[in-house]
Amino acid sequence: MHVKAEELRGSATGKSIGVLTSGGDAQGMNAAIRAVMRTALFAGATPYAIREGYQGMIDGGDGITQLAWEDGSGILGKGGTAIGTFRCKEFTTREGQLTAAGNLVEKGIDRLIVIGGDGSLAGLNEFHENWPDLITELTEQNKITTDQANAHPRLMCAGLMGSIDNDLVGTDMTIGVDSALHRIRDAMDAISSTAASHQRCFVVEIMGRNCGYLALAAALCGGGDYLLIPEVPPEDGWEQAMCDQLTRSRQAGHKDSIVVVAEGAKTRDGEPITTDHVREVIEEGLNEEVRVTILGHVQRGGTPSAYDRWAPTWLGFEATAHLLTSTDIQPPEVFGLRGEQIVRLPLATAIPETRSVTTLIKEGQYDHVLDKRGTEYRSLLGVFNELTTPHRTESKKTDKRIGIIHAGALAPGMNTAASMATWLGISRGFQMIGINDSFVGLAEGRLQELVWKDVDGWAYEAGAALGTRRHTPVVEELYAISRSLETAKIDALVIIGGWTGYQTASLIDAERSRYPGLQIPIVCVPVAIDNNLPGTVMAVGADAALNHVVESIDQVRMSASANRRCFVIETMGRNSGFLALLGGLAGGAEQVYLPEKPITMESLGQDITWIKKSFDDNGRSFFLAVRNENASKNYTTDTIAHLLDEEGGGRYDTRTLIIGHTQQGVTPTPADRLLATRLTEAAITQVANQINTHDTSIMCVGTSRNAIGFTHIDQAMAAMDNDAQRPQDPWWLPLKGVLDSLNREPA
Ligand code: ADP
Repeated sequence: MHVKAEELRGSATGKSIGVLTSGGDAQGMNAAIRAVMRTALFAGATPYAIREGYQGMIDGGDGITQLAWEDGSGILGKGGTAIGTFRCKEFTTREGQLTAAGNLVEKGIDRLIVIGGDGSLAGLNEFHENWPDLITELTEQNKITTDQANAHPRLMCAGLMGSIDNDLVGTDMTIGVDSALHRIRDAMDAISSTAASHQRCFVVEIMGRNCGYLALAAALCGGGDYLLIPEVPPEDGWEQAMCDQLTRSRQAGHKDSIVVVAEGAKTRDGEPITTDHVREVIEEGLNEEVRVTILGHVQRGGTPSAYDRWAPTWLGFEATAHLLTSTDIQPPEVFGLRGEQIVRLPLATAIPETRSVTTLIKEGQYDHVLDKRGTEYRSLLGVFNELTTPHRTESKKTDKRIGIIHAGALAPGMNTAASMATWLGISRGFQMIGINDSFVGLAEGRLQELVWKDVDGWAYEAGAALGTRRHTPVVEELYAISRSLETAKIDALVIIGGWTGYQTASLIDAERSRYPGLQIPIVCVPVAIDNNLPGTVMAVGADAALNHVVESIDQVRMSASANRRCFVIETMGRNSGFLALLGGLAGGAEQVYLPEKPITMESLGQDITWIKKSFDDNGRSFFLAVRNENASKNYTTDTIAHLLDEEGGGRYDTRTLIIGHTQQGVTPTPADRLLATRLTEAAITQVANQINTHDTSIMCVGTSRNAIGFTHIDQAMAAMDNDAQRPQDPWWLPLKGVLDSLNREPA
């Protein structure tokens, strides 16, 4: 985090900032708007909504309205944009921009945050560059006074990329992409089940004019068999290749066939590839019924996902804090996320670079296109191609055997990771051995070879078909485990799971010199809803659990809408506050109680004073606190609820909700599926390399700044608080400051 929340409080009195949304809408824009306005209020500044994109600036009057704290209420969970969006032609003209600048100066606004696509942000950059001239011209025309001109010599601005295309070069997720993937996941899962029942082929069209990210992610998350995207136009004769591929996939045991076509897919000659053409080709080639589904605007609609609430909230906070605290006037930047970090890219270069990809596609420079899309895109594409080109393994077959085992609490994505590991291992010529019931099953020798078909149904399901346990073996059990590995001739082990898996790997590392069977390469793949694991900033499964928490919060909010209520919701997470904090941030909770931040009588007293005042003076009718299950031994969820109830003196009813184990049982989200795919691909590559080089190190695979990397188990565990079983310094903990700045109405 660049700006500390506490330093921001009241530091920008007298400053005004405008916010607008422009171009195509995207889920998550509201979270950004809410963050901008509330951060401004927290800092003591005056926020203004500019309505209907740049049009509001040109209209002036009601087109630019001051925002109050309550204007942010209830919009976090809504799709679309609460302040309207528009494609305003007039703003592209000098006259339009002159009027716009005049109207801003009139209100004393010289700070501006624009949430929109590359067109809108290009417009912002141009407006910023023109501002000094526009001010001179307005003064010459006597439309503003010299004092006004002197007070606003420059426009300070920042952009947030709201676009479901995910095409901002240099960042990994633009606002709206994750929610679009949720819609696509739901549709693809539904299509898969009906396609499988009828042995049918489906052609699915996904949005994306020049960027195939959504289509690629859809194909990987939803079991696509063939993919057509703008970045990789198919070779001549692709029609036959597609039919051959679909036939092979049926022969390999797939019941359904799904072809995913990006809206902007073209041939190498630049001819659009239509879903109708694809349908005709398959109907002729395979002689079977083909159904076409065009997902269209469904992808832009609906409730924003958890990511599309906490990420734009954080981005909005940072961008606003930056504009309000900068003393020197800097060139405008676009704020985006790279994994767990906020990155700021100069608008003047980021937008042209993003737009250059379209030109590269037109010019047929496809290799450069993929370079611009980044390593995640390339690696996902590589996995998709590998998974959909079976039967090329015969030549590579080795006698090496890789064991797959789960350990730790059940989490969404265990099945996805196990099936991906199996498929990729088989594709690279290994024999893949599934170990049942974690290390208990391993000690008892319960393992079997897995073939392609065995794992076919697992990939997108909740649960862990191989079984998992939260039992960390003791030293005495290592002998049996080692013997089992030797007997089954296991050459390497992939442990997919949570803390227990890492603890066991650590134990093996310390004790292995006495056990020959344990002297093999081992890689740990992080899967845990608590997101508390070594060597990674995100564990698979945490996103699904988080989305479940946020959905529960939404439902609680609705259930309480007719009464004056205080709610205390309890999340899982053991000693890691990830789910409670990010759930609270994404769900708009007023307070969160985390194991990392001790609860005291004094802090509870302050909360009670705030709640009472807020119900009495501010017309509040709902207060939400999210408490992690281990936030305090004594201040339990019930105790806190009783305190709030007793002290409320009848102002409100108090209720609790313990979300419980459903958090572990949900279907993996698209983000979980993609992360599981990337991490297992890297893990299989790593163990294969280690087998070849006789390197028996125990490694943890993980992600940081959205790049995949490996850390030795020793080093990874050293960054942990082993007693509490969580990271010493989690990246997300400073977001408590963001929550405190946004969710508390000004005194
Ligand atoms: P998106 O922002 O979703 O890419 P558009 O490209 O349609 O959508 O741009 C949205 C709006 O941004 C335009 O209608 C216009 O108001 C403004 N805009 C786009 N390009 C420019 C530009 N070069 N100069 C000024 N304004 C622009």
